[in-house]
Amino acid sequence: MREIKEIHIHCSATRSNSISASTIKRWHTSEPRNWSDIGYHYVINSAIEFGRPVDRKPASARGHNDHAIAICYVGGLNPETGKAEDTRTPRQKELLIKLIKQLKAKYPKATIHGHRDLSPDKNKDGKIDKWEFMKQCPCFDAEVEYLEFQPKGFKPKSAAAQEVKSKKSKKADGKKQSN
Ligand SMILES: [Zn+2]
Repeated sequence: MREIKEIHIHCSATRSNSISASTIKRWHTSEPRNWSDIGYHYVINSAIEFGRPVDRKPASARGHNDHAIAICYVGGLNPETGKAEDTRTPRQKELLIKLIKQLKAKYPKATIHGHRDLSPDKNKDGKIDKWEFMKQCPCFDAEVEYLEFQPKGFKPKSAAAQEVKSKKSKKADGKKQSN
């Protein structure tokens, strides 16, 4: 059994949000990648589809695959302009939370990250700023959005999530003092 420490959120970087897991599998297992299977464990279009078995490590983010589960929502590009954008439908948002809750029930210590939050910290200041993103994937701040599902003592990688978290703890301190 693999020990699961991280849950990674990806987008498929497509204009459409209705592409199936079997289509993505075809992309991943043919030229130029030629992987043995689809890279992700779960694909979310208008449903949750299963990809690679969870007991096999994903092709998710270099240096992080051994202990990761990879989820991909279908979309991530503006249908007209083709630019990186959070194109999640309300249904996809709902299914992402549903799946994260299920996984967290099984792997309570797992932290949740967007693919871009795993970019190298080029200036070594302990946070991943926008300019350090290698990719825009998944085109939203997963660490901020899923903060409530993170384990105790979670240290966000993304600069945005670190800011939200420090504001929250300041607020909590303020409450303690006024009580
Ligand atoms: Zn990705």
